[in-house]
Amino acid sequence: MPGEIKCTVTECEYNQNVKCDAPMIQVDRNHASNAKSSDETKCETFKRKM
Ligand code: SF4
Repeated sequence: MPGEIKCTVTECEYNQNVKCDAPMIQVDRNHASNAKSSDETKCETFKRKM
């Protein structure tokens, strides 16, 4: 089984039991051109649950 992604963003459409259920996610820098910590990254795949 591939690596699992724990994610506490339960309001995301892809979240299932505090894990990511998307087939693939994209993570980008967040307001930084050279991230220094995880605060400067973001999950681009996030989609608000309807
Ligand atoms: S898509 Fe991103 S925010 Fe949504 S559950 Fe997966 S890792 Fe979390």
